[in-house]
Amino acid sequence: MDKNSFDAALRPGVRAALAPSNSALRRAEDETFRRLLDEDGQFLPGASFARDCPYCHTASATASLVLQAYGMHLMRCADCGLVYSREVINRAFEQQRYQASQAADANMALKIDPHYAALEQDKARYVMARLGSLAGTGSVLDIGSSTGALLQAAEAAGWTARGVEINPAAVAHCRQQQLQAVCGEYPCALSADWGPFDAVLMLDVLEHLPDPLAFLARVSADMQPGGWLVIQVPNFRSLLLTIEGGRNNNICHGHWSYFEEQTLPGLMRKAGFEMRFFETYISELDRILAYPDEVIATAWQQLTGQVLEQPRQLTVEHVHQAMLGYKLFGIFQKVAA
Ligand SMILES: [Zn+2]
Repeated sequence: MDKNSFDAALRPGVRAALAPSNSALRRAEDETFRRLLDEDGQFLPGASFARDCPYCHTASATASLVLQAYGMHLMRCADCGLVYSREVINRAFEQQRYQASQAADANMALKIDPHYAALEQDKARYVMARLGSLAGTGSVLDIGSSTGALLQAAEAAGWTARGVEINPAAVAHCRQQQLQAVCGEYPCALSADWGPFDAVLMLDVLEHLPDPLAFLARVSADMQPGGWLVIQVPNFRSLLLTIEGGRNNNICHGHWSYFEEQTLPGLMRKAGFEMRFFETYISELDRILAYPDEVIATAWQQLTGQVLEQPRQLTVEHVHQAMLGYKLFGIFQKVAA
């Protein structure tokens, strides 16, 4: 069980192999984002609405601006500290955006690339091993099951696995592998006889939700008492994102909350889940080391308060020890309200 096995920075050749798929995805996303913006880079009238903190509802007028990108103002809540986009795309625009965009196809092309799929499969095995060490086996629901890497790893580890996924091509891919997945949005698409589940997986889901607490309440209702919830979200406090700011590919429409080591456990506690395991994985060390020494050292000092003497000597272990990896990974347990 080694998280470095799926760290692209440590797998020579993977970046070059994925570069064409990745840049096609970035171009498609960029094009999709721009369709909703005017010449000044602000949202077109009616495309978005402004909101307060989605976690504690403190007014966005009292929050501090962290950065601006693609018409979004990322604010840090004055009360709970969560970083969130003040603007959220209206639901009608959001659906239109998914249907009309090339981004979903480009994302699918990346997912089925053998190099990418190999990393995803290794990560899925790691995630299920971590979960298994706490939870044993049982029934598991993967929300956003994509092309089925987690469903496959779960079945292989002895779980009964089911998935729900919005992309029809990804669902077809699952079914070709005899994996159980339904097409649609959670929770509407679930079969009535599914659940309650012993575990729920939400990898790269929470950041997309305009109202994460309402969604987590529904998830909790679909879980057994003492059930396990596995969360992966982009780490807003990662070293690479701190270096890149608004240019980082995690800053995008669709990511409405930006979690950090300091804010995710509190949000989960408010939703009735206690943290049982928490770390960062995926270092992006190669992308970090592509920046000049002084840029890396400045970001490191900003995040840790420590002086980084030799940026070239930075290792993936240093990055994760400081919780500065690219993804936050947590396993939480449902507790009595
Ligand atoms: Zn707040």
